[in-house]
Amino acid sequence: MSQKQTLSFQAEVAQLLHLVTHSLYSNKEIFLRELISNASDACDKLRFEALNNTGLYEDAPNLEVRISFDKDAKTLTIADNGIGLSQQEAIDNLGTIAKSGTREFMNRLSGDQKADAQLIGQFGVGFYSGFIVADKITVESRRAGLPPEEGVLWVSTGAGDFEVESIARPARGTSVTLHLREDASDYLSTWKLKSIVGKYSDHISLPILMQKEEWKEGEEASGGPAGATTGGSMVVTDEWETVNQASALWTRPRKDITAEQYQEFYKQISHDHEAPLAWAHNRVEGSTEYIQLLYIPSHAPFDLFNRDKVAGVKLYVKRVFIMDEAESLLPAYLRFVKGVIDSSDLPLNVSRELLQESRDVKAIREGSTKRVLGMLEEMAKAEKQDGASEEDKSKYAKFYAEFGAVLKEGLGEDFTNRDRLASLLRFASTSSDTTSVSLADYKARMKEGQEAIYYITADTLAAAKNSPQLEVFRKKGIEVLLMTDRVDEWALNYLNEFDGTPLQSVAKGAVDLGKLQDEAEKKAAEEAAEAFKPVLDRLKEALKDKAQDVRITTRLVDSPACLVVSDQGMSMQLARMLKQAGQKAPEVKPVLEVNPEHALVKKLEGSDRFDDLAHILFDQALLAEGGLPEDPAAYVRRVNSLLA
Ligand code: ADP
Ligand code: MG
Repeated sequence: MSQKQTLSFQAEVAQLLHLVTHSLYSNKEIFLRELISNASDACDKLRFEALNNTGLYEDAPNLEVRISFDKDAKTLTIADNGIGLSQQEAIDNLGTIAKSGTREFMNRLSGDQKADAQLIGQFGVGFYSGFIVADKITVESRRAGLPPEEGVLWVSTGAGDFEVESIARPARGTSVTLHLREDASDYLSTWKLKSIVGKYSDHISLPILMQKEEWKEGEEASGGPAGATTGGSMVVTDEWETVNQASALWTRPRKDITAEQYQEFYKQISHDHEAPLAWAHNRVEGSTEYIQLLYIPSHAPFDLFNRDKVAGVKLYVKRVFIMDEAESLLPAYLRFVKGVIDSSDLPLNVSRELLQESRDVKAIREGSTKRVLGMLEEMAKAEKQDGASEEDKSKYAKFYAEFGAVLKEGLGEDFTNRDRLASLLRFASTSSDTTSVSLADYKARMKEGQEAIYYITADTLAAAKNSPQLEVFRKKGIEVLLMTDRVDEWALNYLNEFDGTPLQSVAKGAVDLGKLQDEAEKKAAEEAAEAFKPVLDRLKEALKDKAQDVRITTRLVDSPACLVVSDQGMSMQLARMLKQAGQKAPEVKPVLEVNPEHALVKKLEGSDRFDDLAHILFDQALLAEGGLPEDPAAYVRRVNSLLA
């Protein structure tokens, strides 16, 4: 391809470009962070490929980024000697968005500038952010290992298309030149650029170089605040100097790193605009040595519930970047954690497959899991600590609202830490509308003689709260946890007890209030059962296709009937959910429990519409717990004939 080609951007890119330039202008300077980050990635990639092919270094083994500008031409150039781009790679990587989430992202745009800017952050605008400040970008590149004549020139004004042509380029790597817009000329300043590098890119582990400036008398002032007052000016010299710390942040001692630097690093690796809730930075020594720097974000990504979603932890081996998204480093239920693990023990050429089997990785995974749980426990502790700041007190609730449902997956996934996880759970309950009740709180409030932690699962908080199954508990003032996350029922399967007290669903099995029920109540119930037996037998017969059994209950106060499933059975709600999701679900035949004290139930005996009443009872119980009658028209017909 020596001839110039004009190619169109993929539709998503064009859309993204429009968005970038229209919604990110309030935070223009991030373009530099993005371009430096790409340069740094390119150097990481070269270092990695060169592990097996040192020839790729050619005659330039020192990887670096150079930033320069031309005041007259109004251009700013970010150059690296990393892996570079072949012609095809330039077309593919700078003309399409390979990331699968893009369409999803486009769908989520709200039109609200601030919210959208944050979304963009999560997806990473990357290269295209250059167009926030430039009305034209030229990229010159040559991939390491290709001959000089196979360089590529890529040019675009950020409208619908871009041009590519082949050029000769002796230097390996990429230089990106921004032709700055009128209103972006303040980036033509060493002082300004240095300050942005210091803010965002200090921790980049390779040197970022800029040309030194010198004071020169007798010319027009320029170049930032220093030059503003006298008749001299700063002029750029030929001498280059390193303007960042150029040491990977996580390798520095904790005491030398400020909170701002930790936060900035987080934003860089996570593409998140918001500061993290917490982080932990440790050098772990012992039989497996590694550094961990782990962050807990303050909000969930859009695809949190996609369990195939990439993990957020990057793996380094002895400062060499190995891979993003190393999912073996943390269990799936902690997939929201971001950060870096730098191992001293793993081989540099470690593969994903190898990672899964490595004992060192196993140790890292266990250690990191403990560390994350520790961070969460700290946050949870602060909730109730006198003297903690309001901000600290509110952190755990914030965390839980975003990630609580994911954390619950851990109950079924991480048996070693089940007790610690159980202590971290929070629920709404009949005593609290907010999701703030811990199992320990619940236990502390248990009634004298209460032997179980009671809970109910439902689709919504309102459905849970109004469930007939709760009536007797409410009457006796017994707290019941209200669970409305989709994952709850599945997760609770793995949690049979907490701190020695069993957990009991109030919608499963016969209600057994144990010592909470006095002798008189028990006796009355038994007598009622006896007297009611003929009616029960007729009900069973009438409903034999729908109900596996019919019995009387003491759990109801105001309602005539409710449905329950057997102790080991799947709840009707879960079965419905599975069916909706197109999955196989066993046919759940519930037990109908009736309240012999209720007027409607009393009416059954001697009614000449026994069959209709029986079906209405059943269908209403089904409605009350969020289901639908099998034959809604028949239900309506029966009710209407009673009403008329
Ligand atoms: P990301 O960095 O998240 O992949 P970007 O939009 O920042 O997304 O970059 C898109 C792609 O363009 C990169 O994945 C990379 O393949 C390529 N690229 C960008 N800048 C460079 C560079 N300086 N050197 C080599 N490749 C680059
Ligand atoms: Mg990038």
